[in-house]
Amino acid sequence: MTDFTTARPFAHEDVAHWDIETEVAIVGFGASGASAAIEAAQAGARTTIFEMGSGSGGASALSGGEIYVGGGTDVQQAAGFDDSVEALEAYLMMAGGPDADAAKVTLYARESLAHFQWLKDQGVPYKGTFVPGKIIEPETDDTLIWSGSEEAWPFSEKSRPAPRGHVIQHMGWGGGRRLVDVLEAKARELGVEVRCDARVLSLVADRDGAVTGLIVKIDNKPQFVRASRGVVLCTGGFCMNQDMLRRYAPEALRLSDPIGENDNGSGILMGMGAGGDAIHMDQFFTTCPWIMPPSLVYGIIVNERGQRFINEDCYHGRVSRTMIDQPGGRVFLLADNAIFERPFELSRIEIAAVGETWEEVEQELGMAEGTLAATVHTFNRYAAEGHDPVYRKHPQWLKVLNEGPFVALELNFSESFFSFFTLGGLNTLPTGEVLDSAGRAVRGLYAAGRATSGLPRWGHGYSSGMSLADCTFFGRQAGKQAATAGTATLVEAAE
Ligand SMILES: Cc1cc2nc3c(=O)[nH]c(=O)nc-3n(C[C@H](O)[C@H](O)[C@H](O)COP(=O)(O)OP(=O)(O)OC[C@H]3O[C@@H](n4cnc5c(N)ncnc54)[C@H](O)[C@@H]3O)c2cc1C
Repeated sequence: MTDFTTARPFAHEDVAHWDIETEVAIVGFGASGASAAIEAAQAGARTTIFEMGSGSGGASALSGGEIYVGGGTDVQQAAGFDDSVEALEAYLMMAGGPDADAAKVTLYARESLAHFQWLKDQGVPYKGTFVPGKIIEPETDDTLIWSGSEEAWPFSEKSRPAPRGHVIQHMGWGGGRRLVDVLEAKARELGVEVRCDARVLSLVADRDGAVTGLIVKIDNKPQFVRASRGVVLCTGGFCMNQDMLRRYAPEALRLSDPIGENDNGSGILMGMGAGGDAIHMDQFFTTCPWIMPPSLVYGIIVNERGQRFINEDCYHGRVSRTMIDQPGGRVFLLADNAIFERPFELSRIEIAAVGETWEEVEQELGMAEGTLAATVHTFNRYAAEGHDPVYRKHPQWLKVLNEGPFVALELNFSESFFSFFTLGGLNTLPTGEVLDSAGRAVRGLYAAGRATSGLPRWGHGYSSGMSLADCTFFGRQAGKQAATAGTATLVEAAE
């Protein structure tokens, strides 16, 4: 096969013959691709999806199907939570980190309720019930959970807390398959053409840099696809591309459990090759499910030097991500006999030391004398007074750790289950238009989902549900914008 490459587009002028003609070509059939296809088709464009797998899915189908929405959904209201657009916006700005995308955050916060309704209108089922407590995903078919750091400092100070993780009705973990099935059914009903076992190898662009089509491998042959209105890259992130991880997110190489399906970064590379700018490429989400069982949240977490580094009541992913910033390759979760329960087997968290005193635990871990023990004694002193002036853990999660025997559970970056996926990607407008490094749109090129740097773009702020919120909502914007070739306003704003 000719040297088609993701690194630069094939010259439009050199295309001898178009094998397939469409108006909007969507690359990737996960949540963002499906959402883009629905809007593109509804806007009247002939729409074709190219998916390298044998069917729809991607990481989206492996997911929990949990979507971060708020501002006062019917489910939040029924459970007695008084959420607002302002609180949601403030939270998302904090969760987006130092370079949160204010335009996307503001739009999403404003349109979140309408987006939730849109999901329901597509046929996504929600039972409408709330599950309290700290959980990762419901084991039932319930809907609403606390899925971020809303109740924890510093988020609670700037945004009135409300639970916002809305989970598709599905018994147990893994409702993402059902989410994609529902969106796929809708896309097909609207006449979207789906080409599976179709790996996109390269974009096609003209002399002026406008993207005019793509080259896809079908039946082992390269096919030239003309996309007269635009190409939308919905190819997911790059957690499974070792070369890209080495180059852009080397910290993630310390972790051994990338999660996804075909997160090969090819869309990001194609977008960059066509002049698009990729941003926040060093950012990734990671979590080790250390909050199972939740009684362990009463424990404290220390690094190899015996020092605490965060309020442990934050979202498990924020705590896990902060673990990676610590010196060394291991951290320890300290528990006393009253709160200890065996960690969830999947987490691969092992007992590293046990002692009748904290000094014994410290010694068994080989730490310098007076380090870990001093940390626990300071924590205990304040916990007895009902506060944590050092890291501001919420009083509801404070417990004096004084009931022996005592245990240090080890979270080891290379051995424990630190799942991760990437958050960096193409820089896009809320409309999905891909920007170059000068901030100009690359004509004919759009992107959404984890191929972009979207609402979730800071590993320390990620909350469950933010990725699918971003994929579905901004996938819709990209599909609509591509279909109307830049003439339409944003989806919800136009309706
Ligand atoms: C176990 C698990 C649980 C999760 N739970 C949640 C959750 O509950 N809530 C949440 O918000 N997030 C969750 N996430 C993260 C979330 O699922 C993903 O970030 C999101 O689904 C990415 O969607 P996407 O549309 O960008 O990419 P994907 O869903 O990965 O779709 C991309 C598609 O593009 C295809 N593709 C790639 N390259 C090419 C190419 N060159 N040519 C053709 N096709 C190509 C891939 O095969 C894939 O099907 C979870 C992830 C995992 C793995």
